[in-house]
Amino acid sequence: MAAPTPIVLFLATSGRSGSTLLERTVGQWDGWCSVGELSWVWEKGLIEDQRCGCGTPLRSCPFWTEVFERGFGGFDGVDAEAQAAGWEDERLTRNLGVFGPARIRERALATKASRLDVLITLYRSIAATAAADVVVDSSKFPLRPAMVLARPDLSARVVHLVRDPRGMVFSWRRAKPEAAADAGEGLAPASTWHAAAWWLATHVALDRSLRGAGERVMQLRYEDFVADPGAALGSIAGLVGSDADPADIVEGRALRLGPTHTVWGNPDRHRSGLVEVRSDERWRAEMPASEKRLVTAITGPMLRRYGYPLHTA
Ligand SMILES: [Zn+2]
Repeated sequence: MAAPTPIVLFLATSGRSGSTLLERTVGQWDGWCSVGELSWVWEKGLIEDQRCGCGTPLRSCPFWTEVFERGFGGFDGVDAEAQAAGWEDERLTRNLGVFGPARIRERALATKASRLDVLITLYRSIAATAAADVVVDSSKFPLRPAMVLARPDLSARVVHLVRDPRGMVFSWRRAKPEAAADAGEGLAPASTWHAAAWWLATHVALDRSLRGAGERVMQLRYEDFVADPGAALGSIAGLVGSDADPADIVEGRALRLGPTHTVWGNPDRHRSGLVEVRSDERWRAEMPASEKRLVTAITGPMLRRYGYPLHTA
């Protein structure tokens, strides 16, 4: 019997925007399973056997062992090298924001159907193993949500998560290289200019490729999630059509988090217990005015779109 088809919820963002915390949070609800940045499951998971969010190397984790048994007859039932190489194209699409929406859609649909079939088998198998109706994928490649939204045989929703680019750039540029590498981000961008351009390209690509998806997409600002996690969680439950209750997770300004089987993401994914939500606003005081101006100049048109001020104190 085929596994039931879950709703796939993407947390789409540019990185350094609170997505690790958010995906772990929604993964606490009964029937919701967060798997982290699933795009890395082939390279970091099957090939390199890096640690799952539960702390066990992926190939020894009982959860992933069952997922691959169920979906593919075992870890060796699917060619991980070929999958990793095939999705490599996807990494290059971060800059697709420079193209029009038609071009993005065309490129998305041109992705080999067989590769998407493997992905969909994986989603179904994750849902069946976790007894979940909702699978949360925080893969950071902006075309992936559009590809999955275009599939008639799958129900998908997207939270487009945005953070003030000055905060994102500050956090990224000052991350220790090993922490950035551990977070699957590779080397931090070589310059402020590069980091700001990355933010811009990612959000333009997301905006354009998700245009027309209507009520299947919502925008959420990191700052709003941090200010009122309960309200943000309520909106996300509404997007999915679920009656999941934020009060199950939120306790004042803190979140009750247990371990999840995330394949890849920020090292914070290993923290458990009551985690206090704090907005990282250090950039406001510590970022040089010239750097703020540069980021503002590069990201200006999209800043207004997401409701961020052009001038900062
Ligand atoms: Zn695990």
